[in-house]
Amino acid sequence: MEKKLSVVVSCYNEELALRQFYAETSKVLKSLSWDYELIFVNDGSQDGSIEILKELAAGDEKVKVVDFSRNFGHEAAMIAGMDYSSGDGIVCMDADLQHPPECLPGIIAKLDEGYDVINMVRTKNESAGWFKNFAGAAFYRLINILSDVKFEPNASDFFAVSKKAAKVLKTNYREKVRFLRGYVQNIGFRRTTIEYEARNRVAGESKYSIKKLITFSMNTIMCFSNLPLKLGIYAGGFAGVLGIIMMIYTIWSWAEVGTPSGYATTIVLICFMFAILFLIVGIIGNYIAILFAELKDRPIYIVGETKNFPDEKE
Ligand code: UDP
Ligand code: MG
Repeated sequence: MEKKLSVVVSCYNEELALRQFYAETSKVLKSLSWDYELIFVNDGSQDGSIEILKELAAGDEKVKVVDFSRNFGHEAAMIAGMDYSSGDGIVCMDADLQHPPECLPGIIAKLDEGYDVINMVRTKNESAGWFKNFAGAAFYRLINILSDVKFEPNASDFFAVSKKAAKVLKTNYREKVRFLRGYVQNIGFRRTTIEYEARNRVAGESKYSIKKLITFSMNTIMCFSNLPLKLGIYAGGFAGVLGIIMMIYTIWSWAEVGTPSGYATTIVLICFMFAILFLIVGIIGNYIAILFAELKDRPIYIVGETKNFPDEKE
């Protein structure tokens, strides 16, 4: 039987990019040896994205739409796309054509060779700007030091998995604070990488603000490493040693000069100690927040309606 590729595309306010994305991607998909489905997950867009998607779905049965009840984020959209997919291989792509559809034949070739995880590695990403590129590199370096899981630097949300790998991701990695890219690195199986040059966004603006990226990075590090929790032990030890040194110095200066060491030192020490203390409390707080989200077990996403699925799940 002919194999099928599921292409999962998350869209948030992408009305300017969707038609071009559909046109270019469908053209490549039609030329492949595999059958395909193009699953668009509308992540609560406030613009005209959903109207465009419905129109595309009405004119092409290969286009399937999962419409979220509100914005749940890119991570939730990707897992939803996987949940709704029925292909023998699944590719996640962005809707802005930064992930070139020309890579799809190469991905199919690797899936045919029996690979389960295909990491698409960016060789160039000029459009992101120097700050995002630098911050990205720093993030990967840090997480690789802190975590046991080895992250592929320059990995993106462009990757492909076999049905087998997707099943593991769908069933065993339903964490509330999510980082799909990390799980993809985590699951093992037969893996390979393909390099690609990220294109510029065709239209619209990046949906990831610096603030979103910082929160996301912090949560991800905490989801993949417990080391920050142990920071208190080291900081406490360091502050203790510093305290002993200061005590010796105070006794010495009292014996030598006759006046105990001054006010300035006290202020410096108090500020320093509180800084460490608050940092640690903050870190623990964030772990508790992640734990709390897990405990509440709220849905990762809520679907309003779907289009072109055989048993229209509502
Ligand atoms: N996206 C989404 N939900 C969000 C934010 C983004 O589904 O809350 C989608 C967006 O439509 C795009 C992909 O995730 O298809 C990547 O977002 P973007 O291109 O804005 O990020 P960048 O490439 O700048 O990192
Ligand atoms: Mg983009």
